[in-house]
Amino acid sequence: MPKKPAQDREKAPPSTVKVAAAPTKAHRPALPTAVQDKLVLAEKIIERSREGIIVTGPDHVIRFVNPGFSAITGYDPREVMGKTPAMLRSDRHDTQFYREMWERVNRDGSWQGEVWDRRKNGEIYPCHLCISTIKAQNGRLSRYVGFFRDLARDSIDFREKARYDHLTGLPNRSLLNDQLNFMLAHARRNGQILAILFIDLDRFKMTNDTLGYAIGDQLLQAVAVRLKNAVREVDAVFRLGNDEFAIVLEEIAHIQDAAKVAQKILALFGKPFTFKDCKHDVYINASIGISLFPYDGVNMESLVKNAETAMMRAKEQGYNHYQHYTPGMNARAFEHLTIEFQLHKALRNGEFVVYYQPLIELATETVIGAEALVRWRHPDMGLVVPDEFIPIAEETGLIIPIGEIVLRAACGQTREWHEKGYGGLRIAVNLSARQFQQRNLLGKIEEAINDSGLKPEFLELEITESFGMKNPELTVKILRELKKRGIHISIDDFGTGYSSLYYLKRFPLNALKIDRVFIRDIFVDAEDAALVTIMITMAHKLNLKVVAEGVENTKQLEFLKSNGCDYCQGYLFSPPVPAEKFEIFLKKFKTKQDGDS
Ligand code: C2E
Ligand code: MG
Ligand code: MG
Repeated sequence: MPKKPAQDREKAPPSTVKVAAAPTKAHRPALPTAVQDKLVLAEKIIERSREGIIVTGPDHVIRFVNPGFSAITGYDPREVMGKTPAMLRSDRHDTQFYREMWERVNRDGSWQGEVWDRRKNGEIYPCHLCISTIKAQNGRLSRYVGFFRDLARDSIDFREKARYDHLTGLPNRSLLNDQLNFMLAHARRNGQILAILFIDLDRFKMTNDTLGYAIGDQLLQAVAVRLKNAVREVDAVFRLGNDEFAIVLEEIAHIQDAAKVAQKILALFGKPFTFKDCKHDVYINASIGISLFPYDGVNMESLVKNAETAMMRAKEQGYNHYQHYTPGMNARAFEHLTIEFQLHKALRNGEFVVYYQPLIELATETVIGAEALVRWRHPDMGLVVPDEFIPIAEETGLIIPIGEIVLRAACGQTREWHEKGYGGLRIAVNLSARQFQQRNLLGKIEEAINDSGLKPEFLELEITESFGMKNPELTVKILRELKKRGIHISIDDFGTGYSSLYYLKRFPLNALKIDRVFIRDIFVDAEDAALVTIMITMAHKLNLKVVAEGVENTKQLEFLKSNGCDYCQGYLFSPPVPAEKFEIFLKKFKTKQDGDS
């Protein structure tokens, strides 16, 4: 607490000082219970306050200090009783400062501001001080009370707190950076292996969006607990951000030990999470990337980065995996970035073109339509097929503008063919799951149809099996809206994904496309042949048409025909070709006309 100017303080002879410590029960006169309760409470607050409290008489001689005072200043109460707060001065302020301060206190009844004081150990520190006067019933000044907060300690606390994640209580990335440097120095000195496990929850955003942020937060907290339980007491778990965690395993004996921990973590995620406010069990998986010191990096940055790269690779493998870092991975990541950059350029320069592959009705061998398949006409690389860029376009969201280009081109082109006399042609366009998350998907589709003038019943949208799993309710709702407008829906690459019969029943589908891997192996693997016949029968029972993809020879064609498959598509008839070439094909082939059944 700051002090009165020296001349005033010296007026108070120590002998006149009566030490007024907090009143004890024994000395307390009998008071009504409610008042006593209040006093006890006040006493507790004073005792426990982290703020320093100092009470002086009108003569500025200290009568009382609380434990907070001792904690901040380092003085025991006995050392300060009878003295004035001048003993705390740091000499950072001049006499003028204190004079004005006391003038304000006496004139206005209080003053507050920042003051530099000195602790018992000589250290000076900033504090926020508030001094008030207390008057007796006769209006005369009875006490000065000062409350002060140690701003230096506050800032240390704040900095400490900023290094912990408030949601899970785990140390955060900034603490990881600091601690990892120490751990690495230790491992280097002792020739030990250290592992970093970079953990990212799979599809956490979807869970958050579906179940709400409150459950999302509880899930992150529960994940933090599971991760801590998965490792030894000495192993540190960090939350790096959103749904990313890291574990540092020190002093591991063998490289395989890190993989064992990763397996253990993945197994822990196998069990559902349950929450009071959530009716359903919540399932979530994780993908884990591992980097090892000294093999995969010798400093903090490279180890964390490489563990993250390995984690992304684990995700590419279809989630719920762990993956060790390998040196080629950064090259891949670089390639990924390059493609992303080039995709942006391709969009600006209009490098995407649509190829068409005919869809044939087996019974009549008539062309009933086409599937629109995107190609990237790259100025240097030539024609790039979708497998090379669609996954990156999906990941980066660029599939949305690319998909729109394909949809608009395909609708416009089909309308043109209708006008040229091929009135019954249908066009199938692939829709990726990412496009489905687009808010205005229905609007975009309607716009493409209206602008082209194509009747909606000639448009078919192909979705994949995994598509609806993310948010079945929403998927069904949107699909119904599309169906209401007359648009056909088919399920693409059937048999390679979840093959959920439940979704087959729930989604308003028109057709099922059997993936080409089954057709390829009809005569290689008896099981594939059996599966194809089962899929055809099942689809028909569900009132769905069946399309066989990847038909390359007449043997396959005959097999499909004899098993009642409705349509097919494949190199036997034509590979995907540009619109002009498709038109040549149309001229040679029998085509379906509008109104043909
Ligand atoms: P998909 O929708 O299953 O398309 C069929 C793929 O099978 C096409 O590959 C096609 O060229 C290929 N194919 C057709 N007949 C045969 C055959 O007889 N034998 C063999 N081996 N393959 C055949 P493509 O054009 O490379 O497309 C690959 C995938 O990329 C497509 O599979 C589709 O999932 C995706 N894709 C293509 N265009 C688009 C698009 O515009 N948007 C979206 N979201 N995805 C697209
Ligand atoms: Mg398709
Ligand atoms: Mg397909």
